[in-house]
Amino acid sequence: MRPTTPAIAEAMPAGIGDAWRAARQRIDRLDARLLVEHVAACTHAELLAHPERLLSAAQTGELAALVARRARGEPLAYLLRSAGFHGLEFAVTPDVLIPRPETERLVELALERLPAVPAPRIVDLGTGSGILAITLARHCPQATVTAVDLSPAALDVARANAARHGVAVRFCQGDWYLPLGDARFDLIVANPPYVADGDPHLRGDGLPYEPRMALTDGQPGGDGLACIQAIVADSGEHLAPGGWLLLEHGYDQADAVRELLRAHGLVEIASWRDLGGIERVSGGRSR
Ligand code: GLN
Repeated sequence: MRPTTPAIAEAMPAGIGDAWRAARQRIDRLDARLLVEHVAACTHAELLAHPERLLSAAQTGELAALVARRARGEPLAYLLRSAGFHGLEFAVTPDVLIPRPETERLVELALERLPAVPAPRIVDLGTGSGILAITLARHCPQATVTAVDLSPAALDVARANAARHGVAVRFCQGDWYLPLGDARFDLIVANPPYVADGDPHLRGDGLPYEPRMALTDGQPGGDGLACIQAIVADSGEHLAPGGWLLLEHGYDQADAVRELLRAHGLVEIASWRDLGGIERVSGGRSR
């Protein structure tokens, strides 16, 4: 029987090759392939070698729904519930920001600055999916890593990612340093919300699907620096002597962040560029 309505057509079993062809009429070719592989639980090689492999009616319906969501602008990472960062795969949900490649710069800078002590103490403020804490713990197994987030839902995602990557990270719920008592650290890292209120970027390119609290500080008319300011202001109470504070920030915030670091007594202040040539991470050291 021939399908008579699009709804029925979408539920008709199809081969994975045909499904890929149909999907890429509507969305980017690579996104289409990754969604087909995700729904069919197949590899790229299987897709190429066995395009005739059938999807069940349920899989065909699931794929149609995911393609429609992607076509409306929902980020691929939320549809796949996974994203790569620094060579590892992380679970992501709409409760957490999707990892960005520029944040990998922060990992590199942090690893270069870990002191050669037996158990360096690291804290990741606003950990989200846990990428910074977990990647640093993987690269520095002797470190004691703590990760803080205000969002219990984000912490659930981060805990699952830590378990997946076999690292012991202590997770704390709360506002920046609040759950840490008077603990001090050799390294503080953060990729805090820093997008200015009203930045048109917030309305485009998938950002409306990401948690607002991970992108902006929620201050009407704010310049996006409130969280960075809070983190820098109290860093003196939580850095060990000689400890580093490294922060990711917006494309036009490096001068302001260096000024904040200076005003709060940090030394060896510098900014570093991301792969796009934009000053994206700034930091300083406690005396
Ligand atoms: N880099 C992200 C963006 O501009 C924002 C991440 C953040 O606020 N920490 O899309």
